[in-house]
Amino acid sequence: RTDETLLEVNNVEVIYNHVILVLKGVSLGVPKGGITALLGGNGAGKTTTLKAISNLLRSERGEVTKGAIVYRGERVQGLAPSDLVERGVVQVMEGRHCFEHLTVEENLMTGAYTRKDGKAAVEADLELVYSYFPRLKERRRSQAGYTSGGEQQMCAIGRALMSRPETILLDEPSMGLAPQLVEEIFGIVKGLNENEGVSFLLAEQNTNVALRFAHYGYILESGRVVMDGPADELRENPDVKEFYLGMS
Ligand code: ATP
Repeated sequence: RTDETLLEVNNVEVIYNHVILVLKGVSLGVPKGGITALLGGNGAGKTTTLKAISNLLRSERGEVTKGAIVYRGERVQGLAPSDLVERGVVQVMEGRHCFEHLTVEENLMTGAYTRKDGKAAVEADLELVYSYFPRLKERRRSQAGYTSGGEQQMCAIGRALMSRPETILLDEPSMGLAPQLVEEIFGIVKGLNENEGVSFLLAEQNTNVALRFAHYGYILESGRVVMDGPADELRENPDVKEFYLGMS
């Protein structure tokens, strides 16, 4: 990890349908080479924060009404999601979003659409994805809609990797998965972070697992950051233990 901050969210406010204030001035930073967790309960504003960053709010009738989103020192607000992908930021949405009628491999290849570096490089990255997700290799000719929830989550992360991202915004990777699979997926995220240098901003309701794998965490409540700190400090914090880790 370095001290270089890749992504900065500065005092961002989001309003839905012109009236519903959901983010009330959220600020956070994602350092290069780190895993940063965005924590909080149902409806705290985690997904809204990720969508504000990748400019995916419009279809939800949401709007950033205050603040700034900066990547590598440049404001990126209002960029098309594909422009953001070209700058190195890609979002893996909650609920996985694979193309059900395409095969696993076809899904992965759709992640490479913005690349201009040729077939050999793309094929090398497909092999890289398969080395992290051997199960996807086994299932590469299966229709994605017929694979398991865990495999679809892997497929969604693999597809994001195919754009050679510098930063992945990962929304609720544990959702709906058995504990063992959650461990497996977080283990792979850690491997990608350590070996490939991918930085992550990870929205998670599962505070326990997120704080074991992340380096730093922000806790959101009702659209505000109420606490932040190194993951190991948050895990020892009495309030975090009581309200988020289910033990006091
Ligand atoms: P979850 O884990 O359930 O996704 P979250 O922390 O990601 O929770 P958000 O999905 O960002 O929370 O939602 C934050 C708040 O914004 C909630 O109160 C939600 O009802 C509201 N909200 C989300 N999307 C919309 C929308 N399109 N229109 C109006 N309100 C919305």
